Amino acid sequence: MKAIVNGNLYTPDQVLARGTVLIEDEWITGVGSADALTVPPEAEVIDAEGMAVVPGFIDLHLHGLRGHDAMGPDLAQVIRELPAFGVTTFLATTLTLPREETLAALQAMADVLDWPPSGAQGVGIHLEGPFLSPTRQGMATPDWFEPLTWDSFQAFQQAARGHIRLVTFAPEVGEAMACIPHLTGAGVLAAIGHSSATFEQVAQAVQLGLCHASHTFNAMRPLHHREPGVVGAVMYFDQIVAQLIADGVHIHPAVMAILLRVKGVERVALVSDAAPLAGLPDGEYEWEHKPVFVRDGACRLADGTLASAHALLDAGVRNLVELVGLPLEQALVPATRIAAEVLGLRKGRLAPGYDADIVLLDGDLRPVLTLVRGETVFETEE
Ligand SMILES: [Zn+2]
Repeated sequence: MKAIVNGNLYTPDQVLARGTVLIEDEWITGVGSADALTVPPEAEVIDAEGMAVVPGFIDLHLHGLRGHDAMGPDLAQVIRELPAFGVTTFLATTLTLPREETLAALQAMADVLDWPPSGAQGVGIHLEGPFLSPTRQGMATPDWFEPLTWDSFQAFQQAARGHIRLVTFAPEVGEAMACIPHLTGAGVLAAIGHSSATFEQVAQAVQLGLCHASHTFNAMRPLHHREPGVVGAVMYFDQIVAQLIADGVHIHPAVMAILLRVKGVERVALVSDAAPLAGLPDGEYEWEHKPVFVRDGACRLADGTLASAHALLDAGVRNLVELVGLPLEQALVPATRIAAEVLGLRKGRLAPGYDADIVLLDGDLRPVLTLVRGETVFETEE
């Protein structure tokens, strides 16, 4: 048994000053004020010394970090290193490669997910590509794109041994629209992304079960006042949870604020979209068989196209506080509880019965200690 005492608890729906969290095995068994909860004498006590105690961050869109690519066997190292950024749960995200390479990578990812090392919990795969629109390629290579068909998806899912939980695709390409009920029927979340769909097409997709949008604003038809496009539809339909990259590079803080006001924190999932080059020093690297340049906190192709993000999810939470002006308890909601609800997990809250995925944040909101299912998987030196 463990007890975290003397922390400011962000459940995140409530803030409890100087509260106590009790942990037994993998679960939270008690959350309350110091007066209300008795710490059993046998408990291992962690003194939070007035720091913020928050649910672990959940990242639905992460390609890797520090030179490690989540799309392949290096996923094991991604799992080990993520807790340093407060991330306790994530979807390992792919990008578009030639089909045979993708199938081999999915098998390697499934091997890691079935026998994971200690670290953050990889709860599945987010397949981003190859079912994208060549008109919104972003950093991806359209030569390797294909329209979504149910047969094709099943081949990928089989290689991944059922680990694909979310698929980002362009519903307007080929017969993709007809696949949505099959995806949702199989428990796979249907997400729009890299798409030039019209508002009407998105409306049809929502009717069929579309419920999520990848990196809102990036690589999608923008809002026009006579054609609301994908961006307008994502804002309009409550059924869609909108991913938001809050690295401060992909989206202007005012636009982040607009999305959060229109959708509310309850319908936004904060994501990093971190590249395998996230956290690396400035320089030239290779990813997806192309040179990628890290400079000034961004990853870009030679032509300036953003190639995913350099920041991890902890920076996103800090940016919602510092750039958008949200109070911490609000900023935490899209980074914890909403992402957990999207995946149907008993995570993302400090509450009895929930997984003991917990992060201690210092006064600058930097992770100091990270627990995943009750186990300490990261601790700063001091
Ligand atoms: Zn993308």
